[in-house]
Amino acid sequence: MSETSQMGNESWIKYWGEDWVLEGCASCNGVFVLPPERVSQRCPVCGQAALAQMNATDNRPVYTQPPEMVVPFRAQEEVLRRSVSQFAKSVWLAPADLQESRLLGRLQSVYLPMWLVDVQVQGDWRAEMGFDYEIVSHREQFKNSGWQTERVKEKRVRWEPRLGRLNRIYDNQVAPALEQQAEIESKIGRFLPKDQKPFQPDDLTGTIVHLPNRPPEDAWNEAVVVVQTAVSQDCRLASEADHTRGFKWSPSFANQNWTQLLLPLYTSYYLDDDNQAQMVLLHGQSGKLHGIRRASMKQARRVAGIILAVAAVFLLVTLALLGLGFTVAEEALAWAGLVGVLAVGVGGTAVLPLLYAWYVNSIAKRP
Ligand SMILES: [Zn+2]
Repeated sequence: MSETSQMGNESWIKYWGEDWVLEGCASCNGVFVLPPERVSQRCPVCGQAALAQMNATDNRPVYTQPPEMVVPFRAQEEVLRRSVSQFAKSVWLAPADLQESRLLGRLQSVYLPMWLVDVQVQGDWRAEMGFDYEIVSHREQFKNSGWQTERVKEKRVRWEPRLGRLNRIYDNQVAPALEQQAEIESKIGRFLPKDQKPFQPDDLTGTIVHLPNRPPEDAWNEAVVVVQTAVSQDCRLASEADHTRGFKWSPSFANQNWTQLLLPLYTSYYLDDDNQAQMVLLHGQSGKLHGIRRASMKQARRVAGIILAVAAVFLLVTLALLGLGFTVAEEALAWAGLVGVLAVGVGGTAVLPLLYAWYVNSIAKRP
């Protein structure tokens, strides 16, 4: 076997780092490359299974090249701490494992891949371009015992058909390299590729890298939509119009150049009552957090038990006062009534923690 094909088939992972390994998640089908000190931990993306080592040659992923660009982790530690602390405090009757210190201790930095594509676009386009204009009319109004003329301005749009020919290079059009990217961005906000810098192997220290599950040929359709939006915008600007509609084009694309960009994400998790990992994601640029909230039925039962115990004490006092009222002092009966009502009132609230935990968990389960 020649040296090049050997590099292509067997040693591709060496380009990521010395001793790096390939691991996969049986639950979310994520494929990761990671430094040796991070092996076989819980999947940092779905948390549902431990990562299992894969043979880099037999299980060659759809895309194995190291990235060209990286968006560095920029969220300040203070911001991450605050986000995690607020989240941990936001759940009443939280599972015992949902604690700020545990979430922070399990914080794992993960790089997610994204595509940037440069492409030369040629073709004809046609669209209706809208131009804003104002009309001024006069309205007669009866005011203060006399007729008065009022100027009324009204905005309108004049639509005109336009067409043209385009030949331009569009750089850095974004396309997803991961099926889950839209879902992740809907939770913690979009990543800003503007912050990118050329990739250095040192950027990977202590970090797990998610390999693309959508190679360029898969992601191209989405890139075309992004390019079309940019082209339509350019045509509108060239026409000096304010709006555009019915954009149609017959493009041909050439000289596509794909760049893999890594996006920074922190993940953590806590275990709920059923020992299931619930994921917490933090945006590596802004520190914005998204976590699944689960309440603990165990805690809810404990609180309900305390409330019932307090109600039982009130009930005993009521019975004692009743006994007193019927035997010694009649005025104790009025007190017995009052404390009795209190016992029933307090006892009734015991259902609240149970209802709350059930409600929070049923929301969390909804897709
Ligand atoms: Zn997974």
